[in-house]
Amino acid sequence: MPSPRRKKLLPFDRALARTLSVARRLPPETVPLRSALGRVLHGDVRSRLNIPPFDRSAMDGYAVRVADLEGASRETPAVLEVAAVLAAGHRKKQRLPAHCAARIMTGAALPPGAEAVVMQEYTERRGDRVRVFYPVEPGENCGQVGEDVARGQVVLADGRVLGPADLGMLGATGRERVRVTRRPRVAVISTGNEVVAPGGRLGPGQIHDANGYSLLGLSSRVGADARFLGIVGDRPGALKKKLDRARKDDAILLSGGVSVGDYDLVRRQLLDLGFKEVFWRVAMKPGKPVFLGKRGKQVVFGLPGNPVSVMVVFEMLVRPYFETLVGKTRVGLPRMTATLAGRVKLRGSRRKFLRGLLAAGEGRPIVIPYVNQKSGVLRSMVECNVLIDVPGEFDELVAGDLVEVLPMEVPWETS
Ligand code: AMP
Ligand code: MG
Repeated sequence: MPSPRRKKLLPFDRALARTLSVARRLPPETVPLRSALGRVLHGDVRSRLNIPPFDRSAMDGYAVRVADLEGASRETPAVLEVAAVLAAGHRKKQRLPAHCAARIMTGAALPPGAEAVVMQEYTERRGDRVRVFYPVEPGENCGQVGEDVARGQVVLADGRVLGPADLGMLGATGRERVRVTRRPRVAVISTGNEVVAPGGRLGPGQIHDANGYSLLGLSSRVGADARFLGIVGDRPGALKKKLDRARKDDAILLSGGVSVGDYDLVRRQLLDLGFKEVFWRVAMKPGKPVFLGKRGKQVVFGLPGNPVSVMVVFEMLVRPYFETLVGKTRVGLPRMTATLAGRVKLRGSRRKFLRGLLAAGEGRPIVIPYVNQKSGVLRSMVECNVLIDVPGEFDELVAGDLVEVLPMEVPWETS
């Protein structure tokens, strides 16, 4: 098969824009709170309740009227009759009589008429009377109705990635289920005659599959529901059966076989199977050969075979795609500035995504570029935690340069 004709490379930003232009948010589904961690909220959540729903005591102590404690001190304590005992969860409605206190526990509703709570530590109990040694301010040691959340208030906004506090908040507002965006369904396929599943033995010239695993991991990390469909060889027609098994998937992630080698047959096969080309070949390094195709509602990413390239293209293009599908408010890796600690020589005009290790510095964090930036050296991804985003025109970066870095380990972003 002749190698496809050389095409101009698409600038990275245009590739990203085209990727997002084919991304549509998936529909919502309702899931139990218990399994909602990391899911993306679909629609604002308003509280139907005030939280707390009633004025309550924040301490174990005595509910009182402020005027009854005026001028109280060690020497001249206020002496009040204990008119009631109020535990958390009590349903009593009686008013607090004047010159009386109610024994009250943390979380118990304040009786009508009570204006504050005195901490038990500032009192002395004598039978059915209590001596109080300090005055109180109105509202002291009390929680007010709605002080945490007011009824009708938006507590969680659309597009938020649900973290532990969010789940607690949803529980507090009385929900046991929550509406989230459906997870993207993803099929992962590795290609290459030389690629052998781990567990099997390697013959001459063979390697084990790395990409299938890294892609499954990356996909789950961005909230996709990914499964591995196996390895296919570099034969015309080899992809058809696998793609038939992926009919119901929102996206297919292929790795390998998209470049211009004699056995890079992935793109040709995808076009023959009816996928329309959104783009092929991007001015990025690593990752140049990446292909994006669309057929109906389904997209296919033909990712490079090199284990670093596949991960970098995932982070820079596939991640924003999935994040748009799940409706996240902010897409793409976060960015920050760091001081480069080391020197890097750069070649060519493509936008570079170098691997680096971000560490705390004095003031600004520092980033140490990985010694071996070849796209086949997967250890750079194992040992690094950021991508360093370098515009195409630079020939060299030196120690002390300010660079933009993209942290790749973001366990619980808030939106
Ligand atoms: P390709 O894009 O198919 O030419 O592959 C580029 C390089 O990545 C070659 O050295 C391949 O052997 C290697 N490669 C391709 N697929 C995988 C894979 N699934 N795991 C590890 N290395 C791979
Ligand atoms: Mg190959």
